[in-house]
Parts: sequence; structure tokens; C-alpha cells
Amino acid sequence: MVEWNKLIPRPETKFLSVKCPKCENEQIIFSSSATLVYCNKCGELLVEPSGGKSIIKGEIVGEFE
Ligand SMILES: [Zn+2]
Repeated sequence: MVEWNKLIPRPETKFLSVKCPKCENEQIIFSSSATLVYCNKCGELLVEPSGGKSIIKGEIVGEFE
């Protein structure tokens, strides 16, 4: 278990817990990620940046302010 709680979120960003549609691995990502994010486990594309927003490919299973 990665200790993400030790990271301090910036006010303008959120952490999202996203479930990979392919292997169901849950992964914590930034809501305003400016880069492509791939699943740590199977390499499936999970987040695609688009004009300041992020297109989340997987199912969002949690949100952290
Ligand atoms: Zn995966």
C-alpha cells in the first residue's frame, strides 16, 4: 500500500481513485493531470489530458480533496 496520505493536496487539485477498466487495479491520480496516466499494473491508459481537463477512462471509485 502506497502511503498517499502523506502527500498534501493543493487546493486546486483533487486526488481521484480510478479503477482500471481492464484489470480493475485501483490507482490514485491527480484530477488535473497534464500528462497521460497509465495503469501501473497492465499499462492501460487511464487519464488523458484535454484542454486543462482530464478525461478519465476508468471508473472513479473515490475522491479526496
Ligand atoms: Zn490495468
